[in-house]
Amino acid sequence: MSRLFIFILPFCFFGCSHAPETGRSQFIVMSTSQEKQLGQEAFVEILKEEKTVTSGPKYEMVQRVGERVALSASRLYPDAVKGYKWKFVLINDKDEVNAWALPGGKCAVYTGILPVTKSEDALAIVMAHEVAHVIARHGAERSSQSMVAGIIAGVAMSEMNATDRAIVLGAYGIGVSLPFSRAQETEADQLGLYIAADAGYDPRQAIPLWKRMAKAGSKAPAEFMSTHPSSKTRIQQIRGWLPKATMYYDNAVAHDAALKKTRQ
Ligand SMILES: [Zn+2]
Repeated sequence: MSRLFIFILPFCFFGCSHAPETGRSQFIVMSTSQEKQLGQEAFVEILKEEKTVTSGPKYEMVQRVGERVALSASRLYPDAVKGYKWKFVLINDKDEVNAWALPGGKCAVYTGILPVTKSEDALAIVMAHEVAHVIARHGAERSSQSMVAGIIAGVAMSEMNATDRAIVLGAYGIGVSLPFSRAQETEADQLGLYIAADAGYDPRQAIPLWKRMAKAGSKAPAEFMSTHPSSKTRIQQIRGWLPKATMYYDNAVAHDAALKKTRQ
């Protein structure tokens, strides 16, 4: 007991914070600048191994959605994305039903997810879900838990530092380890829905989207399947957030219409 107490207590003085929107208590021992640095390094590393799509309608769609989602994320959660330089890449891999976002604003979509998203609205919901994981610092939270678990298990801090990068990668759903927890997935669904709606994408599309994703089943990676609430619970939760999301959406649509009018 004493060992646990000694480590947890000082961390909690520095490490306890709250997630945006939901106010959920979080335990994070990593600074945002450390997190951004790791995100940037990871991004460069991953892209060395992948082939990206750099033109054509699919690429343009990802750029368009990314720009709008990033703008809305900054509007709704300005403190969480301060100093972010957003970049959205489309990775050419038809077997990978996945997408991710890293601290600092570097994001990727795999071509394999496009047959499941089908529409631009649904793609926006997926991308906003990823961006929401970053905004709510879910990777840093997972890493902090692993670091503490490592310390408690007797792993030296110096060894832990050497594996930080891998932990963060895993913590953001890239690679095999550390899927997000259920609470984090639910939080990303909620924040992501608001962000997509504020960006002018129809939040009602989330229901058929997550049904299709559940059907994609074994093809979909841990990020979208293993720790998510059951399809039924998830859809019930989304219905609960839809009134607020629809308000954001209606405002965005009205704003777009007004903008079009002034340009005529
Ligand atoms: Zn997720």
